[in-house]
Amino acid sequence: MTTIAANLQAIRDRIARACAMCARNPDSVALLAVSKTFGADAVLNAAQAGQRLFGENYIQEAVRKMADVALQHPPRLAWHCIGPIQSNKTQLVAEHFDWAHTLDRAKIARRLNDQRPPHLPPLQVCIQVNVDGGATKSGLPVPEAVALAREVAQLPRLQLRGAMSIPDPLPDFDAQLAIHQRARAAFDAIAAALPASHTGFDTLSLGMTADLEAAICAGSTLVRVGSGIFGARHYPPPAG
Ligand SMILES: *Cc1c(COP(=O)(O)O)cnc(C)c1O
Repeated sequence: MTTIAANLQAIRDRIARACAMCARNPDSVALLAVSKTFGADAVLNAAQAGQRLFGENYIQEAVRKMADVALQHPPRLAWHCIGPIQSNKTQLVAEHFDWAHTLDRAKIARRLNDQRPPHLPPLQVCIQVNVDGGATKSGLPVPEAVALAREVAQLPRLQLRGAMSIPDPLPDFDAQLAIHQRARAAFDAIAAALPASHTGFDTLSLGMTADLEAAICAGSTLVRVGSGIFGARHYPPPAG
């Protein structure tokens, strides 16, 4: 077994134990493998070990990597954009990704909607909420997140799937749980504000290597794990 395969198994075990601890069905928590800064070989290695969902932060790096990975004819993988999206990168996101987790502006949402190619299914999107930070942090406070969600729900080439949050690291489980519960409350507030006809709002993207247990206990349905699978990140990737 490769290191990546062993790490993946260890993370799956952590997810299963966390689900047992807070009485959740382990099938209700998906694992997103965050492969930023790692190469196509690492993605293929994880795919070989059964991983299908991959998360990337840097859009140009990701698109190059997707092409390299595709040359090896892996099973069908899903690619999630979990990094900030500038206006000049929306086209790449619309054309290459299956999901975008970091919507926090109507302008970006409209561009993604307009640029999503007709032959692809709607881009699956989450609204990024800020539950612990000041105005400089990405993500929206709850009232703005609710307003954006109502707009996004009307865009035909986007499918609004949920909320995501990246709280700052906290040292212990109780502190992590308290902050993750705010993200869960934001998710619930958005869900309650959507029209009854809106279906598929089912994803709370929450939790990373260091805090996935607390995130799962707060209701995360998708944990984003990088270093726990691929190891420590060593170089700053190119901008973009
Ligand atoms: C890098 C990153 C992760 C993964 O972080 P690890 O601590 O390596 O698990 C998860 N989510 C986002 C948004 C990230 O940028």
